[in-house]
Amino acid sequence: MSTAAPFPLIDRHTHLEGSLDPAWVRNEAARRGLTLPRPLETLWAGAAVPFEGFIEAFLFGAALLDSREAVHEAVRAVTRRTQRTGGAGFDLWASPHFLVVHRGQLPLDAFWRGVEEGLAEAQAEGVRGCVVVDAVNHFGPKHGHAVLDLVLPGLPPFVKGFSTGGLEGCPFRDWAPVFDRARAAGLRVAAHAGENGPGSNVREAVLEGGVSRIVHGLRADDATLELLAERRIPVDVCPSSNGALAADVVPHPLPRMLRAGVRCALGTDDPGLIPCDLGTEATSARSMGLEDTVLAVLRRNGAEDAWCLLP
Ligand SMILES: [Zn+2]
Repeated sequence: MSTAAPFPLIDRHTHLEGSLDPAWVRNEAARRGLTLPRPLETLWAGAAVPFEGFIEAFLFGAALLDSREAVHEAVRAVTRRTQRTGGAGFDLWASPHFLVVHRGQLPLDAFWRGVEEGLAEAQAEGVRGCVVVDAVNHFGPKHGHAVLDLVLPGLPPFVKGFSTGGLEGCPFRDWAPVFDRARAAGLRVAAHAGENGPGSNVREAVLEGGVSRIVHGLRADDATLELLAERRIPVDVCPSSNGALAADVVPHPLPRMLRAGVRCALGTDDPGLIPCDLGTEATSARSMGLEDTVLAVLRRNGAEDAWCLLP
């Protein structure tokens, strides 16, 4: 063969609660007699909303995940969206503690069974998926430990990682003991950093939190990009989400990150709220002036560093 087969196309960062199929959400809302929040309709129409509006829309969808069937349906939505663009896998962030404990809307066992059924269905159709358990950064390390207390006993084999998300309100050095515990349990550790918090958070997450993967990293300075490149830390970049939730970061730093040698890959983040898929994200990357050869690098990184492709 003169050319190697292309690397599988992977959605490297998508949230279960933010990936629901809008048609399913509409139906569920109607069935339950709920009015759709205005920010959700606004986001679906492709317009921006303030961050609080995004959270309101996100929570509305999350509240619908109150049964095994609903969780299964949510994973199915991720699979369908991935397939639509020729994708072969996804790393799926999910917040069981929020749904099971904080909201108390379904038992943990029902949650995991819904995910398991969805992932098995995906696998039968040639799409690989894994779960990264998300904890809320601004709730602090005590919450992080509570998340681990919930998920570590009887941890399903499809859970490959642990991550912080939400507002970057708590220093990563304070999270270090939680991250250490997750690693000791065999999980890989990632962090949303440099998105709604300063770029210094990216450096701190790596040096003091010891994370092996960064989500977004948008505000990292050149020295931090050098550090990420040197340590081969993967960075998940989600242009549509960034445009909506970190609109002040212009121009988008993806070309600069790639020039610095950072192992970036594309993800969709919350495509059920901010309409996008891997196709729109590749188009965004192209509109930043990136050539096909660079898009191929994004795809290669996306596969090589994916947790869903781990054995
Ligand atoms: Zn995210």
